Amino acid sequence: MTDEKKVRVRFAPSPTGRLHVGGARTAIYNWAFARATGGDFVLRIEDTDPERSTQENVDVILNAMKWLGLDWDEGPEVGGMAGPYFQTQRMDTYAAALKLMRERGSVYPCFCTKDELDAKRAKAEAEEGGYAGYDRTCRDLDAAEADARIAAGEPHVWRLKVPLEREPIEFDDAVYGHVSFPVEVMDDMIVVRTDGSPTYNFAVVCDDANMGITHVIRGDDHLSNTPRQILIYEALGKDVPTFAHLSMILGQDGKKLSKRHGAASVEEFCERGYLPDAMVNFLALLGWSLDGETTLIDRETLCREFTLDRVTKKDAVFDETKLDWMNGQYVKDMGANAWVRASLLWLAKANILGSAVAAGTPLDPEEAEGAYSQAAIEAALADVQERATWYCALYPLVAERLTRLDEAVDKLAFMFWGPCVQLDEKSVAKVLRKEGARADEALAACRSVLADESVAWEAEALQEACRACGEKLEIKPKLLFQPLRVAICGNMVSPPLFESIELLPRADVLARIDAATKEVFGG
Ligand code: GLU
Repeated sequence: MTDEKKVRVRFAPSPTGRLHVGGARTAIYNWAFARATGGDFVLRIEDTDPERSTQENVDVILNAMKWLGLDWDEGPEVGGMAGPYFQTQRMDTYAAALKLMRERGSVYPCFCTKDELDAKRAKAEAEEGGYAGYDRTCRDLDAAEADARIAAGEPHVWRLKVPLEREPIEFDDAVYGHVSFPVEVMDDMIVVRTDGSPTYNFAVVCDDANMGITHVIRGDDHLSNTPRQILIYEALGKDVPTFAHLSMILGQDGKKLSKRHGAASVEEFCERGYLPDAMVNFLALLGWSLDGETTLIDRETLCREFTLDRVTKKDAVFDETKLDWMNGQYVKDMGANAWVRASLLWLAKANILGSAVAAGTPLDPEEAEGAYSQAAIEAALADVQERATWYCALYPLVAERLTRLDEAVDKLAFMFWGPCVQLDEKSVAKVLRKEGARADEALAACRSVLADESVAWEAEALQEACRACGEKLEIKPKLLFQPLRVAICGNMVSPPLFESIELLPRADVLARIDAATKEVFGG
């Protein structure tokens, strides 16, 4: 193994918007492959489209990579020996590559105008056989004449002189297996445009060759570019890397995953309360498996065990139910501190939503967005800082119940109601007003226990004391605790009751019982 070249892979996004989950999976595979082989992971920004490649779009990609925890060894912000890592800063390398190809006689200038090309195409399309690519008019121009026309400033592009006598272009794709393309169908493609800019296929090959990339792992939408790129490698006299093309990610309806399916970008998943660890785990399994059965695979394992031969060419289906389940597993295991850190925004929103109830101006959770002003969020965030221990104590209340972090807003708002309650009508009807359930007595009994300062303000002690009191009154635990739950938390499906009570001030708990009793029983 020692004589094998060090693995160098790259992720080469075009910064045209948010990072699609398909792109993220490509990034994860490159990253994991580099880590598993002790190789280098390069991030290269393919920013040749001047309209869409804005700084903002570059930041979107870098932030998504950072959020996912995919650290790159070379690239923007970290630099490296093979830089610069933005294509727009590598124009001199493309010019040098063109010069080399001219010297090797593997390209030629083409002076055909757009109108001429359009006319040729239209004519060919009208004939039997159709258009089969550029007709190579300029390929056999006399070299001296071509030089003179260039010197005279005549607009021209540079085309690859496809070696017509060549054998089929074959390669062994690490995922697709053996692939072969007949050379006859290869167009004398443009490598450098009239304005001197490189085409996509040319720039990619120059970069991959100059950066010493050994494995090109990318989406299979690039499979048809690969034979063209191989011809360019050969025209440059460079080694062809190993290719690995990744299948598509489909939605549950079997169509390519897109916005129509809901969230499709890394940013959206972040905004919706998914954890980066869960996303990396989930996306890694869209086309790769450790052993065909293990579903929870942490980063360390992925980075140790990832191999290309376990990548399947079958299209992968994005199963959101599975992602939700997986995210829940990661939430359950992440621990209180990490949870608070990851949930800051949602805890702030729970605070704002709950405090509105305390202030007597309850908000409809669906319409609460307007209440989340920057100032309100900042004040709520300051509260998290000040009372970090209390916020951490909320974690056990929800750790087993959250699939997404954003659900904490609804689930925990009641912890911020102060002395007030917002009673859910259905719960009132089913529990507090239930025929013969003696809910008013149950509430009064629990209130007396909770008011008794001799009972420790601690979940288990409080629960036991309430239970004992209920027994004396011959009220079953369920009929005792459900009314209390509705009075404290507003509904029947709250987090564990006494654990929640323990985290609230006694005065607030008693005030909530009084408020609920008054509202329902008028007492
Ligand atoms: N920049 C190309 C894209 O975003 C990727 C090129 C490649 O991986 O070869 O699709």
